Amino acid sequence: MPIDAPRVRLGHLPTPIQELPRLARRLGGPRLLVKRDDLTGLATGGNKTRKLEYLMADALQQDARTVITAGAAQSNHARQTAAAAARCGLRCVLVLSPRAPAAPNGNLLIDRLVGARIRWSGDRDPYTVMQEVAEEERSAGRRPYLIPVGGSNAIGATAYVAAMHEALEQLAALGVEADRIVFASGSGGTHAGLAVGARSAGYTGEVVAVSVARPRDELAHTVASIAELTAAFVGLDVRVGPDDLTILDDYLGEGYGILGPPEREAIRLAAECEGLLLDPVYTGRAMAALVDRIAGGDYGPEETVLFWHTGGTAALFAYATELLSP
Ligand SMILES: *Cc1c(COP(=O)(O)O)cnc(C)c1O
Repeated sequence: MPIDAPRVRLGHLPTPIQELPRLARRLGGPRLLVKRDDLTGLATGGNKTRKLEYLMADALQQDARTVITAGAAQSNHARQTAAAAARCGLRCVLVLSPRAPAAPNGNLLIDRLVGARIRWSGDRDPYTVMQEVAEEERSAGRRPYLIPVGGSNAIGATAYVAAMHEALEQLAALGVEADRIVFASGSGGTHAGLAVGARSAGYTGEVVAVSVARPRDELAHTVASIAELTAAFVGLDVRVGPDDLTILDDYLGEGYGILGPPEREAIRLAAECEGLLLDPVYTGRAMAALVDRIAGGDYGPEETVLFWHTGGTAALFAYATELLSP
């Protein structure tokens, strides 16, 4: 489905869909496939690269000189934004939370390599700090462009409307009918786009978001409101309400970004069975949820599940100790 919105090319698209036969056999459940959005290819890739194709186009159209966004110290979104800004010849300021770690590693190392300026928010609200940075840039004569956390607004989520159509066309070409599509959800833009894309394409399977940070109802309202704005932005007459969304919030563990035994086990399984690298914060948790659903008999052997890999592998290096502890 062609989407009529300005876009700059940043990713290698379409990303491949691959079978995971050894993992499927090990889990004794459904046929498993993976959509490789970890291979979008911008400074190690991930789902934000797709969103940034539309966000950067908007920034350039508005004659922005500096892109500003916020995230955690190991934010994949911040890293991809910094790399996208470099590609587009824009300055980038990242407002990261809370404080600088002893050594820059993983995403933070890449932020530095691609030339982003980093402002630590400490205990302050990152949005307030972003506004301050924007004011500083304005006084210096550089027009700022603010991207919300995760790039999750209508412009960013538009990329996942297109991505859903891309995946469904690939599945059709492979002759595969996916009963479910499972992925990790944080700030909600990916889910909003996938939900609008699924609805507009007439997909009848289940789109299953695994929340990595927030309780179901809270995330559902966020996703529904982004979905409404996204549908309007791309001119689709589609409505997705909070009750239309499937969100699993049973896998929050000790909280956002805290690696527990289920994530560690899921990351090892994917790596050992398929040579597939997941990430400690998002896809490790989503895979842990999938493993648990299969073990509990919720997803049976007669089904086909597409696991949407949203990237984040650069963060693995910042979690080396936790990943290798017994
Ligand atoms: C940001 C991110 C997500 C979640 O996407 P949202 O649009 O924020 O919900 C999932 N996986 C990875 C690796 C991410 O970096």
